[in-house]
Amino acid sequence: MPVAIRDGGHHGPGLGSVDDGLVVDLSRMRGVRVEGERWTVRGAAGCTAADVDHATHAYGLTVPLGIVASTGVAG
Ligand SMILES: Cc1cc2nc3c(=O)[nH]c(=O)nc-3n(C[C@H](O)[C@H](O)[C@H](O)COP(=O)(O)OP(=O)(O)OC[C@H]3O[C@@H](n4cnc5c(N)ncnc54)[C@H](O)[C@@H]3O)c2cc1C
Repeated sequence: MPVAIRDGGHHGPGLGSVDDGLVVDLSRMRGVRVEGERWTVRGAAGCTAADVDHATHAYGLTVPLGIVASTGVAG
């Protein structure tokens, strides 16, 4: 059976989904943990660029992921 993993579902060609197969949808796993003193951020498999920006902003940090907030980080 064909399998696709869905994170943000933002991939242009649509590889986050599949016809007649199984989609492993991780898009609700949105947790983000920031270690400000180590300049490190860890995101769960479904977090988006917006989730990461929101969490790092409080520490005066940012990750240059681009301009589209709904982009999934894992994909
Ligand atoms: C209009 C548009 C604007 C864009 N703008 C930006 C931008 O501003 N910044 C940027 O960085 N990129 C941008 N991109 C590119 C985008 O980052 C990539 O398409 C990326 O793959 C999207 O990730 P996703 O998780 O949302 O996609 P998905 O469709 O969910 O996944 C993409 C691929 O990664 C695989 N995958 C997803 N999650 C996992 C996982 N946990 N483990 C293993 N494999 C996984 C999927 O199976 C699929 O093959 C843009 C694309 C488009 C179409």
